[in-house]
Amino acid sequence: MNTVFPAPQPITVPVAGSDAAFPVRHVYCVGRNYAEHTKEMGGDTKEPPFFFTKFPDALVPVAPPGVAEIAYPLATKSLHHEIELVVAIGEHGVRLAPENANKIIWGYGVGIDMTRRDLQGQMKEKRWPWDIGKSFAQAAPISPLHPVSRTGHLSKGSIWLDVNGERRQQGDLADMIWDVPHMLHFLSQYYELMPGDLVFTGTPAGVAAVGPGDRLHGGVDGLTTLSVTITPARW
Ligand code: MN
Repeated sequence: MNTVFPAPQPITVPVAGSDAAFPVRHVYCVGRNYAEHTKEMGGDTKEPPFFFTKFPDALVPVAPPGVAEIAYPLATKSLHHEIELVVAIGEHGVRLAPENANKIIWGYGVGIDMTRRDLQGQMKEKRWPWDIGKSFAQAAPISPLHPVSRTGHLSKGSIWLDVNGERRQQGDLADMIWDVPHMLHFLSQYYELMPGDLVFTGTPAGVAAVGPGDRLHGGVDGLTTLSVTITPARW
């Protein structure tokens, strides 16, 4: 094709134990999906789930023994980590009933929803969109994806994150306010889910700020762990 400048490369995430890659279309995220984190953010645990998005090119795929290096981003003094189970969608789905929603899942991975918390807070205060708090360069480190044929559907199991070897976040997938099928049910009322979509499913309590030199290491039972080092700001 005759493009006016070189077209960006397709965004892909490696598949664990395979040469294949998962091509990414959209990146959806759910807010406040664990009760203790909802309380630490001052929210109501009985609300239906709500959603936001990240640019697909914010993904930073990494597999052990690799360590993702992410540069401290522009315009923030409060870069927070949020360790999350990531659901990878492999089929079309719209207006899904919760009891059918698992059928569109291709697999699972581990991601960190990096957040410019100060900017997110300012946007909340002004009732402006959250985008600049959530979607920015390198805002979504992600592990290789595991096909559901090997993991089964994940509804319980430990989810955790260490910073410099100390446990900062610890939870269990069973503690989600909205489990994955209900989350996909709600999300699919607003969007046609398509192969290549990723859904970050919310974080347990313990989110906190990190800075250059900090080492993050996180995981979910049964999935490949994820290691990230924060490097100095580039700009
Ligand atoms: Mn999050």
